[in-house]
Amino acid sequence: MLRHRIYYGLKPFVPRFIRIGIRRWFAIRKREKVSDIWPIMPASERAPDNWLGWPDGKQFALVLTHDVEGKDGLAKCRDLLRLEQEFGFHSSFNFIPEGNYNVPSELRDELVSNGFEVGIHDLKHDGRLFVSRREFSRKATRINRYLRDWNAAGFRSGFMLHKLDWLHELDIQYDASTFDTEPFEPQPEGRHKIFPFWVPAPVVRKSEADSKAANQLPCSTSGRPRAGYVELPYTLPQDFTLFLLLREQTANIWLQKVDWIARHGGMALVNVHPDYLCFDGAVARTTEYPISRYKSFLEYVSRRYKGAFWNKTPREVAQFCACVVNDAAVNEA
Ligand SMILES: [Zn+2]
Repeated sequence: MLRHRIYYGLKPFVPRFIRIGIRRWFAIRKREKVSDIWPIMPASERAPDNWLGWPDGKQFALVLTHDVEGKDGLAKCRDLLRLEQEFGFHSSFNFIPEGNYNVPSELRDELVSNGFEVGIHDLKHDGRLFVSRREFSRKATRINRYLRDWNAAGFRSGFMLHKLDWLHELDIQYDASTFDTEPFEPQPEGRHKIFPFWVPAPVVRKSEADSKAANQLPCSTSGRPRAGYVELPYTLPQDFTLFLLLREQTANIWLQKVDWIARHGGMALVNVHPDYLCFDGAVARTTEYPISRYKSFLEYVSRRYKGAFWNKTPREVAQFCACVVNDAAVNEA
């Protein structure tokens, strides 16, 4: 966290490629030390206690998500949408409500009308969301307004910073700010699971009876307040980590990890940033990587696991999981 604060403090004074260079230097050295827990954390394949599997007998879930960091990313959303449509996939696009770009309602409508999802990515993406509880509460009010206005159900914080117990102030069905294992993140502790889990609101756990009732709440359609939310950890390394920090030249780590997740019936959830994708041939900047790498991942999954994966938007996955994750899984949050 301290390193993150220093890194973020440098932002106004140091060009982006130099800041990424600094993170790269740390990441490459760290990689040698974490080979036993990354990209696969042993024992994270253990399913929740009452887990009965994915709908329709599917072998594993595939969840594609995108955080749109800036104007460059915003300009590439439609190209990314088209690419995923070619393969028949659906995904979610998370936008920063008060960042350095405006989110056109036409784009949000186009995504939703095509079966894609729109989510909230932080508030300002300035690294200060969780600096104080009082400040967070004020920001939560604004985030809730965007959730309502955008008809969104999901949230992911900037830089994958997370305080899961604070997020109960948000009117969300799910959060996606954590990961199974990603030691290169500013807040590096992972959740060590490749399945969604339930994060219970503390106030409903007054007694055993209340606890049982609380477990039924997420499935309620009666309009009662939710008693928690589903956490969807990402389980494939972020594109930023693989291609910009560690300078991997292929998508092989994604392919190997998705094989492992499929073998264990888990959830393959990836975060691909349109900002870093280069759609038109030669990659000119150190902050981009060729679209062919993401495309090769989509091709691999659609070919090798045809008919075997459950590709849904995170909102749909959260709706399903809210009804099946149990108290035992809950307590690990
Ligand atoms: Zn971000």
